[in-house]
Amino acid sequence: MSITKGGVILIYYKLLRESVHKTREYVPGKSIEEIAKKYNIDPENIIKLGSNENALGASPKAIKAIIENAKEIYRYPSADATELRDAISEYVKYPRDNIVVGVGMDGVLDTLMRLFVGIGEEAIIPTPTFSYYEFTVNVHGGTPIFIRRDENFNIDVDKLLNRVNKKTKFIFLCSPNNPSGNTMMEEDIRKIVESVNAIVLVDEAYVEFANKSIVHLVKEYENLVVTRTMSKLFGLAGFRVGYGILPDWMVSEYLRVTTPFSVNRLAVVAGVAALKDKEFIKKSIENAKIGREILKKIPFKVFQSEANFVLVDVSPYTAKEVTESLLQKGIIVRDCTSFRDAGDSLIRITIGTPEQNERVIEGLFRFKV
Ligand SMILES: *Cc1c(COP(=O)(O)O)cnc(C)c1O
Repeated sequence: MSITKGGVILIYYKLLRESVHKTREYVPGKSIEEIAKKYNIDPENIIKLGSNENALGASPKAIKAIIENAKEIYRYPSADATELRDAISEYVKYPRDNIVVGVGMDGVLDTLMRLFVGIGEEAIIPTPTFSYYEFTVNVHGGTPIFIRRDENFNIDVDKLLNRVNKKTKFIFLCSPNNPSGNTMMEEDIRKIVESVNAIVLVDEAYVEFANKSIVHLVKEYENLVVTRTMSKLFGLAGFRVGYGILPDWMVSEYLRVTTPFSVNRLAVVAGVAALKDKEFIKKSIENAKIGREILKKIPFKVFQSEANFVLVDVSPYTAKEVTESLLQKGIIVRDCTSFRDAGDSLIRITIGTPEQNERVIEGLFRFKV
C-alpha cells in the first residue's frame, strides 16, 4: 500500500526508521506570538506562565556578557565548554571532570539515550511527568514503560521495582517533578539505585527552588546520573544550556557520542555569568517562594509545590476550557491534558511577578464554583 500526503505518493516514506512511527510529536507550551495572532491581543498585554521560565527575565550579567562577546561568534566555541564546566563545577561543588553539557537538558538526555537505550530495550517513566523522556526513548527505538504515580504524584518504589526486568536499561526520576512540583525522598532514590541493574537519572531542572539536591549521591553510585538546566532558574531558556553530573566511568563514553561544540560560544559566556550572579539567583528563588504562597488563593485545589510553578485541579471544569478562557484574557498557562496520565482537569501555572500572579488568580475566580 502506498502512503500519500495531499494526493501525492510518498515514494521514500518506507525508508523512515520504524522508531519514527512510534514517536508522538512533542507538544510545547504556547508562545506569546502565537496567542497575540490568534486572539488579536497586543503582545505587550500577554503574560506567559506556561513554560516555567524565570519571571524576572535573564540575569543582567549574562546579557552584558552576550553583548560583549557578540563579535567573537565567527569562532568555534571550545569543544568541551571548559569555562562553562568550570563555573558549573564551582556552583554544584562537584569536580569539573564529572560534568558534561548539552543543548539544553533535552540535548543531554538525547546523548544519554545514544549511550544506553536502543531497539527493544526499556526505560521506566513514572507518569505524569516531563514528556520529553518518552519522546527521546521512542526516537532512539526504545520502549517506554509507564507506571502511574499515586494521587499526590508520589512514586510507589516497590511498584516501580516490580516493572524492572532484563530489558530495563534506564529509569527516569524527576525531583521536583514536572508538572506536579513534588520532590522525592533521598532514601527512595537510594533504594531504586541500589536495587536495579540499570541507569537511574534524577532530573533536577527545578532543584534550586526546593533546595533538596541529591548530587552528592553520584559519588556513591556508578549507575546514578543527575541532570540540570539553565532554562528555568537562570533565565536562559532561549539559549539552550543543560548539564549532567555523571559517575567517573561514564564521562568518556558520553564525550565519545555527543555532538562536538554543542553549546555555542555566547551560551557559554552567558552561562558562566549567570552562574556567578548570586544576587539574581537569590531574587529569583525568593520570587518563586513568595509566588507559591500567593497562588494558594486560587479557588481550586492547588498541589503543594517545591518548584517555580504550581499544579491546579480545575475540576469540575476541564483544563481545556479554563486555559482557553485565560488565553482570551492574554494569560498563557499550561493545559496538562497532553501529559500522559494527567487526566483532563489539570493546569500548570508558572510563578510570575507579583502583578502577574494577581492577574492569573483574578482570571480563575470567574470559574469559582
Ligand atoms: C524544562 C525542563 C527540562 C528541559 O530543559 P532544557 O534545558 O530547556 O532542555 C528538563 N526537565 C524538566 C523536568 C523540565 O521541566
